[in-house]
Amino acid sequence: MTLQSLRRLTLSAFAGLSLSASVLAVPAAAAEKTPQWSLAVHGGAGVLERGELTPEKDKAFRAGLNAALEAGAKVLKAGGSSLDAVEAAVRVLEDNPLFNAGKGAVFTAEGRNELDAAIMDGATLKAGAVAGVTRTRNPISLARAVMEKSPHVLLAREGADQFSKDMGLEQAAPDYFYTEDRWKQLLAWRKDQHAMLDPTHLFGTVGAVALDQKGHVAAATSTGGMTGKRWGRIGDSPIIGAGTYARDGVCAVSATGSGEYFIRESAARQVCDRIAWKGEAVQQAADATMASITKIGGDGGLIAIDGEGRAAFGMNDLGMYRGAISSAAPTPRTAIYADEPSPR
Ligand code: ASP
Repeated sequence: MTLQSLRRLTLSAFAGLSLSASVLAVPAAAAEKTPQWSLAVHGGAGVLERGELTPEKDKAFRAGLNAALEAGAKVLKAGGSSLDAVEAAVRVLEDNPLFNAGKGAVFTAEGRNELDAAIMDGATLKAGAVAGVTRTRNPISLARAVMEKSPHVLLAREGADQFSKDMGLEQAAPDYFYTEDRWKQLLAWRKDQHAMLDPTHLFGTVGAVALDQKGHVAAATSTGGMTGKRWGRIGDSPIIGAGTYARDGVCAVSATGSGEYFIRESAARQVCDRIAWKGEAVQQAADATMASITKIGGDGGLIAIDGEGRAAFGMNDLGMYRGAISSAAPTPRTAIYADEPSPR
C-alpha cells in the first residue's frame, strides 16, 4: 500500500466522523473541575496505527511527552507564567530527537533542516514567530525573542538567523539537527513521493498550551515542517491564527498536520472564535474546527485549553502524540492513538 493510499484510507475512515465527540468525550466529573493551572502538549499527529510502534518506541514517545509536561508543570506549580511554561515544555520536545522539531526535524527536498516556530501570549495578544531558520538550537526561544525584543511578529530565513545571533541565542551547526531516521525518511520520499510533500508526516510538529495561576493562557508550536518541502515552503505552525493562537478568557491552541489546510481554515483562531462568538465548549470547538479541515481534505489534530484550563484534543488522523497535566490532575498523562482516551 502506498503512503498516499494509506492516507486516503485514513481520511475516508474518519471523514465526517465526530471522533472526539464519541471517543474523546470529557468525563462529566473532569469537565466540572476547574484547575488552578493546566497544561497540554502534543508531539504531532499522523497515520499512526497500533502495532506500528515497537513497545520501546511507544515508551520513549510517552516518556518524551511526560518530560515536557513535567517541565511546564514545574513552572506553573511555582506560580510562573503560562508563557514560560509553554516555552519550557516545547524546548524539551525540541531537544528530543524523536519529535519533528529542533533536533530530529525532517529534511527539505534539498536535504536541509528549516525550522518554524511561534509563541503567543493570551494576556497581551503579543506574538512572535520564525520561519525557515537553520541555526538556532531552540527555535521556540527565538520566536519569543521576536515577540519581546523586536517590533515584529514574524521573521524568516537568513534575517531570522541573523536576529538569533544578534540576540545571543544558542547557535547550533546545521548537522546538530540531523538524525538518521529523518534522513532515511527523506531518501524514501525521494524515491516515491518526489512530486509532493510526505503525506504521512508521521512524527509531526510539537506544541503546548497552558493556563497559569493568574488566569493567563499561552500557546507555542515548533516544527521542522514536512519531509520534502521546498521553494521556501512554510506551514501553519508559525502563522498566528493558523497553527498557533491564544487569547485570555477564551482559549489557547496549537495545531499539527497538513499545514496548508490549517492555514486555509484559520484553524487555531477558529477554535477561539467558536468559543467566543458561538459559545461552544472547547471540545466542541476543537471538533468543529477539525471537521472543517476534514471537509477541505486536510488531516492532523490540535490541542486547546479554554480560559478555565479545560483541555481538549481534536484529530482526524489515526493518532496524535498528546498529554496533559493540571492542578486538578497533577500526574502527567499521555495518549497516542485516536481510539485511546485523551488525558484530561
Ligand atoms: N503542521 C506542520 C506543517 O505543515 C507539519 C506537522 O504538523 O506535521 O509544517
